Amino acid sequence: MSLIVVGSMAFDDIETPFGKSDKIVGGAATYIAWCASNFTPVKQISVVGGDFPQEELNALSARGVALEGVQIKKDEKSFYWSGRYHMDMNTRDTLITELNVLGTFEPVVPESYQDCEFLMLGNLAPSVQLSVIDQLKKKPKLIAMDTMNFWMDIALDDLKKVIAKVDVLLVNDSEARQLSGEYSLVKAAAAISKMGPKYLIIKKGEHGALLFHDKEVFFAPALPLEEVFDPTGAGDTFAGGFIGHLAKTKDISFNNMKTAIIVGSAMASFCVEKFGTQRLREIKKQDIDIRIKEFVDLVNFDIALA
Ligand code: AMP
Repeated sequence: MSLIVVGSMAFDDIETPFGKSDKIVGGAATYIAWCASNFTPVKQISVVGGDFPQEELNALSARGVALEGVQIKKDEKSFYWSGRYHMDMNTRDTLITELNVLGTFEPVVPESYQDCEFLMLGNLAPSVQLSVIDQLKKKPKLIAMDTMNFWMDIALDDLKKVIAKVDVLLVNDSEARQLSGEYSLVKAAAAISKMGPKYLIIKKGEHGALLFHDKEVFFAPALPLEEVFDPTGAGDTFAGGFIGHLAKTKDISFNNMKTAIIVGSAMASFCVEKFGTQRLREIKKQDIDIRIKEFVDLVNFDIALA
């Protein structure tokens, strides 16, 4: 059983109040793959330019991530994104988005990917996300999707077409508000559910994440960390942990999604500890198990009601 991951692979330039990364490898699908490959085999779909380091691709292959669906456009440049975090490290401004190879990307789903039962549509053009869904011969057991305000601003019609076809949508709180036109996240969730997804996850950065399904809501906190070094990719890493756990357990019940949210939150807490994908590359199963246990302890309490 494995997982198809679609999304950007990129160069990022990140500035926080505490440091600057210079140009490093990032991208939604890069973070998702590093994270989800801890739980399940990953088959990647993306596009990079001739400037993308071969050793980065080799490192993902060594990790067991299939790259047959990653196109390399030798004479073009990779997607480039630059962002600056505010003092709260929770909000950021996008400074530059250069689509480069992503602007003309036409994904091709390899035959060897057709057996995948889980599909994670990471952040990139909604038309590309839609094309991948349309190329799959069998509807996956579960399709989850992430997106961002950039695509709401420039490709809302296409975005709504994809949203109508997915089971789980992941957005952050400001994106949920923008998409729904509602300030209350409960009302936003109700409005977005009407667009198609049966499950909605609203990420609130250091304030955790909410999972909505019908009239039910579940909340997972973010682990209080002494130091947050770089929040870039935390949302993608969360998504990778969430879908990775579901693909590993093959259980898509609401109850198991609650566990998946805890796994996603635990993985995201690693991501922010160092710049880029660095921390995700270092961690081992034992580190993940200890971190998940910390989450359980964080929210576990006994209460006797009179
Ligand atoms: P996150 O911090 O989880 O929202 O994800 C940050 C990653 O998203 C960075 O590594 C960027 O390269 C990537 N990214 C930023 N803007 C876009 C975009 N418009 N489309 C696809 N990926 C993007």
